[in-house]
Order: sequence, then structure tokens, then C-alpha cells
Amino acid sequence: AKKLFEARSVTLLSKKQFSQKDVNVDQFFKFYNESGKCEDRYKPLKDRDYDRFLSTRASRREPSLTRQMTSLAYKVGKDMISLAEGMPNEQVFPYKRLALDTRFSSLVLEGKELAAALQYLPSQGLPALLSELRKFQSEAHRPPELPRDILVTNGSQHGIYQCVELLLEPGDPVLTSEFAYTGFHGALRPYQPEILGIPEDKDGMLPETLDSVLADRLRRGLKMPKMLYITPTGSNPTGTVLPEDRRRRIYELACKYDFLIVEDDPYIFLNYSDHNVPSFLSMDTCGRVLRLDSVSKVVSAGLRGAWITAPKPLLERLELHSQVELLHSCTLSQAILLELVKNRKSFASHLTFARDFYKQRRDALHSALNPLQRLAPFEYPTAGLYFWLRVNGVDDVYNMVFHTAFERGLMLVPGQAFLYDTSAPCPYLRLTFSKIRLEDMDAAVSTLADVIRYEQQR
Ligand code: PMP
Repeated sequence: AKKLFEARSVTLLSKKQFSQKDVNVDQFFKFYNESGKCEDRYKPLKDRDYDRFLSTRASRREPSLTRQMTSLAYKVGKDMISLAEGMPNEQVFPYKRLALDTRFSSLVLEGKELAAALQYLPSQGLPALLSELRKFQSEAHRPPELPRDILVTNGSQHGIYQCVELLLEPGDPVLTSEFAYTGFHGALRPYQPEILGIPEDKDGMLPETLDSVLADRLRRGLKMPKMLYITPTGSNPTGTVLPEDRRRRIYELACKYDFLIVEDDPYIFLNYSDHNVPSFLSMDTCGRVLRLDSVSKVVSAGLRGAWITAPKPLLERLELHSQVELLHSCTLSQAILLELVKNRKSFASHLTFARDFYKQRRDALHSALNPLQRLAPFEYPTAGLYFWLRVNGVDDVYNMVFHTAFERGLMLVPGQAFLYDTSAPCPYLRLTFSKIRLEDMDAAVSTLADVIRYEQQR
């Protein structure tokens, strides 16, 4: 068999494999036809061979730039300083051991409770958690009386995916801000939608432009969008907080042009100003809002604690999706979330702690960044985790992020990560202060200044 292999110079098995004692000679002959050629179907599949098995949807998925940055950071290790990762800081997680911290009533599960926490659930969620969340939502948002309900999801990302799956047909137009959360674009890609990215100023989406885009489509008889996706508080990536009058105006437009609003608000608990802006849910007199909440940024990202609040007929559809997609979100996580939310006083005090923690970091990065205003102007974010810088004199920051900054040990996220077309040139950078050590901030910003100057002169 060894001679045969060499004579026919077949490549199915490497010589090394072949010389191993345990090669099965019968198996070897089975792979070859009479003329000594290896039949294709017995050859190991190459990467591109799998394309023919993929659904159109799966083949349209693309890697997310921000996720790539995270893997890169793991690979290159400790020498890098990162202003890139939008991860929460572990120091805000309220756990010392798996048992909850003493600021919460300690979670000890045993007997029937433990059995329930390790058991299957109805797809909508843990019943006791659902009733706590219903109370929590009505205290926080006081939504107008309408038949609404809650579905527990595996993080807001799951909620986003669920909403996209619920509402979108391939090729549909979708309303969003010009720069939007990468996870939303990622969920959309398999549908190849027509993106209607509405420009923003320092206060977020411009309702007048939204109105004129929609009026124009109506006039031209074009298909009208059914869905607007928006992150109203501390937007990722621009850091804007949409003021109340704009929210009201956008809500009116939803009624006028008949679309639904997906309100993705994971940074609501990180509002550093004393002013709370009413949510879209709180003004939802017509049942047009699907609101996504998440405790990822303030309790634990790994817990995947999140929920959708939506009009009942839509929620029933979402639940049907959950039934076949994952049966239900993790029971144990829901049991932990229940323990946190039901102890409202401790929960509120934890949220204050998390907010103060990030506020201090926001202020520290702001002071460090201040001298950069001329090189790369930015607004002062009053919520969330991000600064959004427009780099003067650089049309496209891609090279700057992946070469110039990277070589100097600084990780950044380029603005195009938040465009649907991530290959489009973009002069913006997103910086986050969530994980960087306070003592590294000045060094990071001074490297950033050098990098910008270098790029400006190229
Ligand atoms: N929406 C936005 C705007 C986000 O920034 C993130 C996290 N970066 C998510 C959703 C996903 O959050 P979760 O951990 O709840 O899935």
C-alpha cells in the first residue's frame, strides 16, 4: 500500500500518516477507484467546500469588527492598552463568590428552589421573575395602559435578533441612526436590508431628517420601513442621549408613518446626569414600542440578564420563536436576576454604585482627553461608556487603528465598525473608559495624540 501511495502520488494521506502502523489498508483501497484516482467525495473537505451546504442566511453573516478587536486583544496579551473593548469592568459585579454579596440577601438555593433553578421553564421566563420585572417596568417607565408583557432573553443581543427575526423580510428598509450598534447590523446582514441611516448631531437622531426621508419615500411610492432601531441613552457608539422632545417627535412619526420602535436601552442605568429622560416605552400610547433592557453593563455581562417589553400580540410571537430557538433563557441566571431585582433597595444602591464607578472613569478620561479637542473634537457623554471622536484631517481611521496605533500598543475601535458597510471610509473613533486602568489613561491618550499627529502628516 505504501508503494502504491508513492507511485500514484496521491495526496489524501500524508506520508507521515501513512507510515504509521495503524493505517487501515482496506480503508485506503476503498477510497480509490480502478484508475487509482481518489474520488472527490472521499477527500477531506476544504474550507470553501462547505459553502455549498450553507443556507443563504448563514453565508451572509460577517465577522464583527469589535469582536475581532476583542480576540486580537486576547492574542497580543498584556502589553496593549485598550480603549477599545465595550466590556463592563468586573469590579462592578456584585459577587465575591458564587453566593451573592451581602448587600443582597444571600442567594442560597436548596431543596425545591434549587430543583426549580436547575429545571426547564416556560419559554417566556421564570414566573416569579416575570412578575418582578412587570412591577419594575411599571415603576421605572409608567407606560400607558395597554396589553403588554415581558419575555426574558439571553442578553439584549438576543432580544435584538428576536426583533429582527420577528419583523423583517429580506430586502426590507430599516430605520436606524447613521452609526449604530454592531450587533444590530450583524443581526440584519442575512436579510440584506435597505439601511436608512438617519444622521445624528450631538443630541442624537434628527427627527426632521427622519420625517423628510419618510415623506420622500412615501411620495416616490417606495416600500416603507416597519422598524426603527434606536439606543436612546448613551448611544453605542456616539454616546448621545436623545432629549425628550426628540423622542416625542420620533414617536409621533412612528404613528404618522406606521412603524414600530425597537428601543435598545442597556445604558439607561448609566445616566450620569440628574435628569432622567422618559423612555419611548413611557410614551407608548399606541403599542408601537419593543423595549430591550439588560443588566449586562451594571450587574454581569456573563449572566445574560435581559428582557423585552412589548405589546402582547408581538410578545406571543416572540415567545413562539423562543420555544424553538432555545426553549427558554437559562433558569439559573433568571433565579439570580430575580434575587437581585426583588430586593429593590439593594438593587437601587448597587445601580448607584455602578453609575458612580463609571462616572469617575468618564471624568478621568475626559480630563485626559481635553487637550485633544483640537486634534479630534468630541462631545462630553452624559451617559453610557463611550467617547466619539472625529479625527481632524484624517478621512479614514482604519490604517490608524490597525497599524499606527496597534504597533504602539494602543487598541481603538474605528468608526466604520458601526456602519452597515464596514469598508466605508470613516473619520471617527470610539473610545471606552470601562476597563482601562485609571493610571493608564494619560499614557493611552498621549499615545493617541502621537498617533493622530502622525496620521495627519502622512
Ligand atoms: N445593545 C447595545 C447598544 C450594546 O452596546 C450591547 C453590548 N455592547 C448590547 C445591546 C448587548 O448587550 P447584552 O450583553 O445584553 O446582550
